[in-house]
Amino acid sequence: MSIVEKFESMEYGTAPEDPKEVLAWLDRHKRRFGHFINGSFQPPSAGQYFDTTDPSTGEKLASVAEGSPADVDAAVAAARAALAPWQALTPHARARYLYAIARLVQKHSRRLAVLETLDNGKPIRESRDIDIPLVARHFYHHASWAQLLPQEFPGYEPCGVVGQIIPWNFPLLMLAWKIAPALAAGNTVVLKPAEFTPLTALAFAEICQEIALPPGVVNIVNGHGATGEALAKHSGVDKIAFTGSTEVGRSIRAATAHSHKKLSLELGGKSPFIVFEDADLDSAVEGLVDGIWFNQGQVCCAGSRLLVQESIAEVLLQKVCDRMSTLRAGPPLDKSIDIGAIIADVQLQRIRSLVDQGVAEGAVCWQPSVKMPTKGFYYPPTLLKNVHPTSIVAQQEIFGPVLVSMTFRTPREAVELANNTVYGLAASVWSESINVALHVAAQLKAGVVWVNCTNQFDAACGFGGYRESGYGREGGREGLREYLEPAWFRNAPKLPAAERPAAETETDGDAPFATPAIDRTVKLYIGGKQARPDSGYSMAVRGAKGELLGEAPLGNRKDIRNAVEAARKAEGWAKATAHNRAQVLYYLAENLAQRREEIVRRLAAAVGEKQAASEVDTGIERTFAYAAWADKFDGAVHNPPVRNIAIAMNEPIGTIGIVCPREMPLLGFLSLALPALAVGNTVIAVPSETYPLIAGDLYQLFDTSDLTGGAINIVIGYASQLLKVLAEHDDVDAVWCFGDEALVADAKSMSVGNLKQVFTNEGRVIDWFKTEQAEGRWFLEHATQVKNVWVPYGE
Ligand code: NAD
Repeated sequence: MSIVEKFESMEYGTAPEDPKEVLAWLDRHKRRFGHFINGSFQPPSAGQYFDTTDPSTGEKLASVAEGSPADVDAAVAAARAALAPWQALTPHARARYLYAIARLVQKHSRRLAVLETLDNGKPIRESRDIDIPLVARHFYHHASWAQLLPQEFPGYEPCGVVGQIIPWNFPLLMLAWKIAPALAAGNTVVLKPAEFTPLTALAFAEICQEIALPPGVVNIVNGHGATGEALAKHSGVDKIAFTGSTEVGRSIRAATAHSHKKLSLELGGKSPFIVFEDADLDSAVEGLVDGIWFNQGQVCCAGSRLLVQESIAEVLLQKVCDRMSTLRAGPPLDKSIDIGAIIADVQLQRIRSLVDQGVAEGAVCWQPSVKMPTKGFYYPPTLLKNVHPTSIVAQQEIFGPVLVSMTFRTPREAVELANNTVYGLAASVWSESINVALHVAAQLKAGVVWVNCTNQFDAACGFGGYRESGYGREGGREGLREYLEPAWFRNAPKLPAAERPAAETETDGDAPFATPAIDRTVKLYIGGKQARPDSGYSMAVRGAKGELLGEAPLGNRKDIRNAVEAARKAEGWAKATAHNRAQVLYYLAENLAQRREEIVRRLAAAVGEKQAASEVDTGIERTFAYAAWADKFDGAVHNPPVRNIAIAMNEPIGTIGIVCPREMPLLGFLSLALPALAVGNTVIAVPSETYPLIAGDLYQLFDTSDLTGGAINIVIGYASQLLKVLAEHDDVDAVWCFGDEALVADAKSMSVGNLKQVFTNEGRVIDWFKTEQAEGRWFLEHATQVKNVWVPYGE
């Protein structure tokens, strides 16, 4: 084609990146890689290898060791042996290693970008300009966290040996998100890359060698799901950090429930991309290109659900189609390509099948007539219109370049549609009205909200989901916290095992509720009112010497359901200002102080006079403390290195089910319910099984303290039975369970259904009288989740 012809057609020529250096690197390794264990590459103990291929051609790139349980054992042992010397280094020395990694990532950035593109199929433009620079930024940012650790996290210790399992969509970036904070906090690591994309992790292993990172601090074991499973279940691992599908996240939650492994899960998403009629439509369309066609839509936070205001739907969709027609698909090493290859045939078939199902359910499928390569795994950019909100394509993550569109009329309808998903990872909101955009952002159930932008990431800003998108954050201060634990907590002794009721039925009890109480009878407390239990049964409550103190009702499944409904209706508590919540808690403290004598007298019959007096006195102080915290536990504003501010807000989790400790009927209850309430959650609490009569005193206090009805609900009964109902209830967002080891293991394994967040004492003793153990930030952090709202500035 002549220059004149080119000038007239304005067609792009090809601009291929030369892979020769990377191919030479693969050849130097004889196209065969072992695991990276204890500082060197080692062959697989079972002698098995698998192929990794270039998805844009289907051709084999190299064979890679398949990790057996023995390989995982060896890697965990190496990480364990390296732990003490790594922790013995000064924070500055650890910081220098991280800094050195960052430097070398930059030095080898082109090689890493080409290797990533070869192994993953993503456009070189993305691996070169987004993935690898973010990898370097992550290590720089965390080098400085390593340095500042003792000042910024006094009293905290690293978890120990960390097992990390990552997906294939951003192979080296996910590695950086995992390894950088883990090392900065003083942990050692065993990481399993995804089976489709192991190569950049192995190039990273070479960087570890090049900077002479002490052997065993980073270990990389390759393999498929079974290798990941062996790592997740390994008894020598103290924490698991997982990024991947919700389904596998669930299985890891179940597999780790009966251990004390700390767990963070970054899972799938179905993120809304909301365009209001006053948005800058051309910018929104460009945002959409980055939102759903970036990395072929294989992005956990892809803006895969376009919600557009009805008045502009036609215009916007036309603009979207026009823009889609200009997207260029082709060999990902071509620098002017927008759409690269899908990771593997199995993923391609999955996308096809979901789109077919969507069309069968009534969606209209539109694809531009862009030229698609004939070799390799490709899927054209796709728009599904007329999608019903309940359609499979509106609900399930497709993980491909497929956008589904729906319309809304009002901001309220937009929020309802946006939140109509089990996920809650990210959202993008487009409006030129800052009022509308921020009002909507505040109501979205998502860990990240981008206003008039999309897919912005930075190491200083936490990233992670609400609901079934997982829990825990990566990046920023909150991301680092996932790799640390309070030192006292790690060293706390175990609680003795508690007796459980013999029969685990719903209605068992000692006597019908009608039996006259010896001293006093209490009721349940639901929606701000006293309530009789559904079962009509009660249990006898005995004092320290076995004497009968009274009767307590036995709540059951139906009572919990009623309590959850009441808690859901009490959303006004979350919307109340922090100042208002503080006032209510101060009032509560005042009322508790006024009724001190009578409460001590009654409590003394169960726990003795000394403990009763201390519980009430510390309880008054603790209530004051949380009144003080209510308007102080606020967020932060981050300055990422782009023209954005990221507003990190601490939001309440929602409705929390709390199983209170047996040992401190009053103080245990207050120490858990108050931090949850202070930040705006609603609560269903199961009081101490040993002295549930405390409920009577508590609800009288709540009644007289202006607490919104339903903000706190009390259901008395056997902890093990009520825990199950709370953990399995889909409208309960988190379970806090403070009991013996068996009970907290139940809390974790029973919560897999909707992947609710679980906070427990790990079966350990907490000294509820000690402020440093039983009060403050540690509890408030578990009562909130961080939402980052990104807002651009400038013209
Ligand atoms: P996947 O869950 O199939 O695999 C992820 C990793 O887990 C792989 O390394 C795999 O080998 C391993 N694995 C598989 N079965 C396992 C088991 N039983 N026990 C332990 N490990 C096991 O996910 P994928 O297909 O590789 O990645 C796509 C998913 O990842 C999508 O759902 C996407 O949304 C999610 N993702 C989430 C984020 C985030 O930050 N939230 C980021 C990227 C990807």
